[in-house]
Amino acid sequence: MTKFSFSLHNTDGAARTGVIDTPRGQIRTPAFMPVGTAATVKAMMPESVAATGADILLGNTYHLMLRPTAERIDRLGGLHRFMNWSKPILTDSGGFQVMSLADLRKLTEHGVTFKSHIDGSKHEITPERSMEIQRLLGSDIVMCFDECPALPASDAAVAESMRLSMRWAQRSRDAFGDRPGHALFGIMQGGVTPELREESAEALTRIGFDGYAIGGLAVGEGQAAMFGVLDYAPGFLPVDKPRYLMGVGKPDDIVGAVKRGVDMMDCVLPSRSGRTGQAWTRRGQINIKNARHADDPRPLDEDCTCPACRNYSRAYLHHVFRSNEMISGMLLTWHNLHYFQQIMGEMRAAIAAGTFDAWEEQFHAMRALGDIEPL
Ligand SMILES: [Zn+2]
Repeated sequence: MTKFSFSLHNTDGAARTGVIDTPRGQIRTPAFMPVGTAATVKAMMPESVAATGADILLGNTYHLMLRPTAERIDRLGGLHRFMNWSKPILTDSGGFQVMSLADLRKLTEHGVTFKSHIDGSKHEITPERSMEIQRLLGSDIVMCFDECPALPASDAAVAESMRLSMRWAQRSRDAFGDRPGHALFGIMQGGVTPELREESAEALTRIGFDGYAIGGLAVGEGQAAMFGVLDYAPGFLPVDKPRYLMGVGKPDDIVGAVKRGVDMMDCVLPSRSGRTGQAWTRRGQINIKNARHADDPRPLDEDCTCPACRNYSRAYLHHVFRSNEMISGMLLTWHNLHYFQQIMGEMRAAIAAGTFDAWEEQFHAMRALGDIEPL
């Protein structure tokens, strides 16, 4: 049986490219993970998600534990079989979404109790319960249960929350046990304070994990503050383990994170944007509902090889969006996921070739052009 392992192949500045090996297949890094919240990447068949170039997707513990429940998914053969996705799956710990979605949360040293946002039923997640849920789901990469404080917060509050997360990291490690072929990632906290980030990284590396996430970012602090943390925080983590930035982001966030040494990211943006008529291209963002597209026979992006661009005009995409047709979300989501994976592939190639800076310059130059002129 293949063990979980990470090979770093090339670096270019702080940017890195490599491969994560898992029993369910390889993950080329830097990797972008589409989000399959409720055991589906919305509007996409799993084989279509794979066709965009995704090596791994993310499932949400909070949503799945409430509906259809982890126990039911386990009885039905696990999440891979349930949703017909045979490649690797990473699951979050549930902590972040409890904080952002659930009602009547109560946080103690033991864990978090809350009421479901779906039916008001009462639940508890502890580090031990989070490990159990993620095991029942059959997740390949399991995340530690942590607490993510809302920013801005005082240094003292951020420090207290970070230390609680470190105690929970140890409990997560103990509860996870020895599961060959499955990985457990620790999550660094510490807000925007270098000393707290370093303390958190040291606590996690003492415990020892298969990979390390940089948590507590992409929660509204803004790109400059996020890049400020990414300028130093990845350097506190072991070089030979994957680094995962949670919940990022827009294409320029992703490029800036990779430049600073991040290996994995996830975001709902490409799929969520696809359902609201937003397309991401090399030349920036396109709002397909704009009237300027109504008579435009050209594709979203002449050079894109996705089905939405190969086979459909802007005029058609505009029409089906305005008509509330389901194919609108399907095509735009496919294009967006394809574009995000294309960026990742180009960055992997540029890092391997030692040309990341030139690639990044071109990436920004194309975006600065803006969308093609209206006809
Ligand atoms: Zn396309």
